[in-house]
Amino acid sequence: MSATYKVAIVGAGPAGYFTAQALQNSQSDELKFEIDMIERLPTPWGLVRSGVAPDHPKIKTVAKVFEKIASDPGFRLFGNIELGKDVTLAELKDAYDVVVIATGSALGRKLGIPGEELRGSISAADFVPWYNGHPDFTHIDVPLDGGVAVVIGAGNVAMDCARILAIDPLELDTTDVAPHALSALHESKIRKVHIAARRGAEHASFTSPELRDLPKLEHTDVHINADEIQAATARALAKGDIEKDLKSNLDAMQAIADHPHSGHERSLDLHFLLAPKEIVGTDKVQGITFSINKVEGDKVVDTGETHTISCSLVISAIGYHAAPLAGVPADMGKVKNVDGRVDENLYVVGWAKRGPSGVIGTNKSDAAAVVELIVSDLKSPKKSTNIDEILPITNEVITQEKWSRINAAEIAAGEAVGKPRLKEVSREKLLSLGEG
Ligand code: NAP
Repeated sequence: MSATYKVAIVGAGPAGYFTAQALQNSQSDELKFEIDMIERLPTPWGLVRSGVAPDHPKIKTVAKVFEKIASDPGFRLFGNIELGKDVTLAELKDAYDVVVIATGSALGRKLGIPGEELRGSISAADFVPWYNGHPDFTHIDVPLDGGVAVVIGAGNVAMDCARILAIDPLELDTTDVAPHALSALHESKIRKVHIAARRGAEHASFTSPELRDLPKLEHTDVHINADEIQAATARALAKGDIEKDLKSNLDAMQAIADHPHSGHERSLDLHFLLAPKEIVGTDKVQGITFSINKVEGDKVVDTGETHTISCSLVISAIGYHAAPLAGVPADMGKVKNVDGRVDENLYVVGWAKRGPSGVIGTNKSDAAAVVELIVSDLKSPKKSTNIDEILPITNEVITQEKWSRINAAEIAAGEAVGKPRLKEVSREKLLSLGEG
């Protein structure tokens, strides 16, 4: 006899879709799932829409996989529905056999140094959705009227932010970057962008494909001090064999250092062993002072010396934490869980489960493992309520059909101007595009 279980997935990003896919893949003649995906925004795809850099279109092709998952008859999208506002967790847990939280980590970690609140000091958690057209971030104040910007952090988000500021905006004209950000970047006076890492090159979290792209920038010279890379390589070698990923990273950084410069007006400089100490300025950012660090054995220590870079924009890209959700236990910026299980019918996947690490594909294996646990925990299906019955009558739901209209309209608008899509950034307009 076949049993059908109803699952609510909250959050329509990569972790949510890969959970739906793993549920679909674990179906059999005896086991069926009906999946409702609930999303706060009128648009799905999470970080694939509002996180992945516009000049990295290949990474976004995973959206085709998401649409295939959504085309299954047992899948329904409920966009424009917010957990905690339109529907409570208790209602979902009551109505569904299983509830899966896939809401990511949207809040930027703070540096916690003086001057962080000055105008011109912003978090990548605001800057990235601003240039990607997230409806809640169109108003972000990004002062681009000075010549120099500093990005803090040695991860791929820092690199994305720095690249977007450092490249010629002409290179973004044919991308799906948000129209307001494209105009602002065309007006930008920034010509020099610095990335500052607090530890050595051997400790950086950049990944090598992203590093290898840097010397290919057409209108920007990228600088790394070759001595720093050689010193980092020597330190890594002194500790024994260098593991594959680290070697690949150090080689990619050496290739950047060796790459001839073309004398472009625009530059992107990577610095190591600079720990942010204070953002200076009176009413707006005028510079940032760093403590100069050094590596001593296994430790990175302060030399007591400082270095200041004059700049008008500081972007901190130092990681994220999850926003608290009513009724969901939190622990260190994540949802408190054991291998993805939160309580008897509540689970968590993706960044909300494990913290902000890994690339989009990491969510696939992560979701598959949690779904294995979900399947092993299943009891008899309960007589569930439809989500439609617990939503306020006034709610304008973006169904898969409406999203397909929005998606098609954005692609058509983009085609007309030589872009993969022209993103709509207003919630009202997105809702009206959904009506067709
Ligand atoms: P990340 O890779 O964890 O990097 C965070 C960086 O912030 C680290 O270098 C860390 O340095 C630094 N940091 C933390 N606290 C700091 C502080 N107080 N002062 C100075 N620096 C500080 O995180 P992410 O860049 O946000 O990326 C998140 C995940 O998304 C990563 O797995 C990343 O690979 C992925 N991602 C991938 C792509 C892509 O594939 N193209 C693009 C974007 C993001 P320490 O190491 O010293 O702590």
